[in-house]
Amino acid sequence: MSKKFGILTSGGDSPGMNAAVVSVARYAQQYGVELMGIRRGYNGLLGKSENELNDIRKLRSETVLDILDMRGTYLRTARCKEFFLDEVLDQVADDLKNKHHIDGLVIIGGDGSYRGALDLCKRGVRCVGIPGTIDNDLPYTEATLGYDTAVNVCVEAVRSIRATSRSHDRPHVVEVMGRRCGDIAMRTAIATGAEMVIVPEKKWDLRDVIKRLNEQITNGNPRATIIICENAWEDGNMADYPWREQLCGSDECVHGDTPFSTKLMAHVLKIACNAEVRSTVIGYTQRGAIPTAYDSAFAFEAGHRAVELLMNETPAKDDGFAVGVQHGRVFHTSLKDAAQKKPPRPFDEKMYHTINTLPYLPREDDLILVAARNVKK
Ligand code: ADP
Repeated sequence: MSKKFGILTSGGDSPGMNAAVVSVARYAQQYGVELMGIRRGYNGLLGKSENELNDIRKLRSETVLDILDMRGTYLRTARCKEFFLDEVLDQVADDLKNKHHIDGLVIIGGDGSYRGALDLCKRGVRCVGIPGTIDNDLPYTEATLGYDTAVNVCVEAVRSIRATSRSHDRPHVVEVMGRRCGDIAMRTAIATGAEMVIVPEKKWDLRDVIKRLNEQITNGNPRATIIICENAWEDGNMADYPWREQLCGSDECVHGDTPFSTKLMAHVLKIACNAEVRSTVIGYTQRGAIPTAYDSAFAFEAGHRAVELLMNETPAKDDGFAVGVQHGRVFHTSLKDAAQKKPPRPFDEKMYHTINTLPYLPREDDLILVAARNVKK
């Protein structure tokens, strides 16, 4: 009897998800396997829609070929609260096996989606994960689908920002995504020559940022770029700066219900460093971008590997497979290990230190600028 596979995209969308779906569809067709596209992540497995076709529909390679370079995810994605409930998982696994007769499921998503997939593995559903997230926060793989694209979007944006910073001699704070992983921030900082980077992996202090920015300005660089990862606020000490009262009028305002923000940080630096500091949050353009060649190629190879695994390999009990990149090549490993994020990836302390301490070498006109600033004072 011919086989039937299912595929879904889950969690945050990431560039390259569509390319991976196309790849799976093409290889499945080569094997004569029917492929079902499941809509809106795990929600599509709950059997909520009156018309089943709204949730689970047949995908043929001709139907999906056009989405190869399409932004976002054609299958849609969503988060699904019900997937944390045992009774829901029992029902979903039973439906997948006995109602939809699905022999294998490809899940394109991050570690949360992997944990959901593992719950299905424990209930006898064969699952393969493809790491679809821009955050690059899965230590088992050197790259996740969409990470390279996100970095390229950030680099392009920071290059533009640095051009206008240079024109006006203004420092700039730029926030990038990454959840609790500073890889996008680090890579962007390295690629653009940014003067500072702030990441969730490292505790930091606003007073050090002020000190470093002041040093840059004094040394003739009034156009420094500070790259900050979106969730690094939790790891920073913003408590003890003397401008809090001026800015907010109360303690709670800064570190209570109102979290610190990139805009607020620029405002603080403006006062603390007497400079026209500006800010930009790059935001969702990182997620909705067209996949780079790297991500498209990774998607193609990952899709191929996922089909091969579902066709030819048997995972360990209660486990599935996760596709990733190791030593620059596509490989696969245990889904359990991949979802547990163990062992953690070591953080590049040396590069972090280099970016944040590299001195600025002033040019002649920089020194003129410093002299003019000193006269103003
Ligand atoms: P990502 O996959 O990008 O990490 P989330 O963490 O939001 O995104 O997870 C996506 C979805 O995966 C969740 O909405 C939920 O349906 C499912 N999921 C996450 N964690 C678990 C878990 N521990 N058990 C079962 N399902 C989970």
